[in-house]
Amino acid sequence: MKILPNNLKRQHDIYKDEFNNKAVEVLNSGWYVLGNEVKSFEEEFAKYIGTNYCVGVASGLDALELAFRIIGIENGDEVIVASNAYIACVMGITKNGGVPIFVEPDEYDNIDANKIEEKITSKTKAILTVHLFGQPCDMDKIMGIAKAHNLKVVEDCAQSHGTKWKDQTCGAIGDIGCFSFYPTKGLGAFGDGGAITTNSLEYAEHAKCLRNYGSKVHYEFEEVGMNSRLDELQAGLLRVKLTHLDELNEERNVIANKYNEEINNELITPLKTRPNSYNTWHQYVIHVKDNKRDKLIEYLKENDIGTIIHYPIPPHLSKAYKHLGYKVGDFPIAERYANEVISIPMYNGITKEEQDYVIEKLNSFKG
Ligand SMILES: *Cc1c(COP(=O)(O)O)cnc(C)c1O
Repeated sequence: MKILPNNLKRQHDIYKDEFNNKAVEVLNSGWYVLGNEVKSFEEEFAKYIGTNYCVGVASGLDALELAFRIIGIENGDEVIVASNAYIACVMGITKNGGVPIFVEPDEYDNIDANKIEEKITSKTKAILTVHLFGQPCDMDKIMGIAKAHNLKVVEDCAQSHGTKWKDQTCGAIGDIGCFSFYPTKGLGAFGDGGAITTNSLEYAEHAKCLRNYGSKVHYEFEEVGMNSRLDELQAGLLRVKLTHLDELNEERNVIANKYNEEINNELITPLKTRPNSYNTWHQYVIHVKDNKRDKLIEYLKENDIGTIIHYPIPPHLSKAYKHLGYKVGDFPIAERYANEVISIPMYNGITKEEQDYVIEKLNSFKG
């Protein structure tokens, strides 16, 4: 049995006819960028997340870059972010001249809210909460800290479409939520796409202006903007998928619960689930003890089971951020996680037999 780490075709096949019909409808409409599909998607997605506004853009990275620009991050401003975050999170900050201030993750692989305050200086302007792997950060603590220190909160929801902290949906808790619709994401398009969500009319209008070269009125430019537009085809297809997002997330919870219950190997610790949260399981991540991670990947590969490492190099050790001057040992928890984690097969449409096979191989690994 050959099992891929992710299998987008399976999910596609479930709703194939709906996607096909919508694609043909958009192609026949004669209108392909910033039209009714984008407008409707923005309304429907804002409603789903629980914000007043949503603005579609071209990618998750663009959403982050725009968000930090809109809240006013510029040269030398400090933004707090988890040391085990994805590189795009850090790029969203630095593209505006901001400086990432790394805080180590907690036992749930998300920013450790108890270690944020000690990093706050007079230059700190914002906290970026990355709800990694579909699991929310501790938003009560983080919003409390932000309020006490007058900081903005940007949520990176690229892996958490529908994730909840208590009864609030991620993307509606901070000042701005940033989403990616890259095909592998919980709400994935058929190409690139992204969005921001916010309750601020001012932020939403600014984002709309910036995504279109800095223009509100045709051919009048108020500032130097970007070209970052969600296209009609992606928006139309995302509208179709959005109607199924809750059932897709529920299915992922069923898959994750089976892994939680049946993985039984003392070398393997599945990611702990945070209380008070609804996880959407963007990835199913396990931590492997005793430096056995690479051996396990090899063992699974020999048995035709694909895996991915999210992520092998933490941002502070990335070549792209060499100029920040960090070295090995500066963020030991993030560095340890980078050597321990594996994302095992997790996708909508995985069969019981496939999952049983993965579990059997994980449980028979001896190290
Ligand atoms: C995917 C991802 C992004 C970037 O999204 P793109 O659409 O690929 O630009 C940002 N942050 C996180 C946490 C992601 O997983």
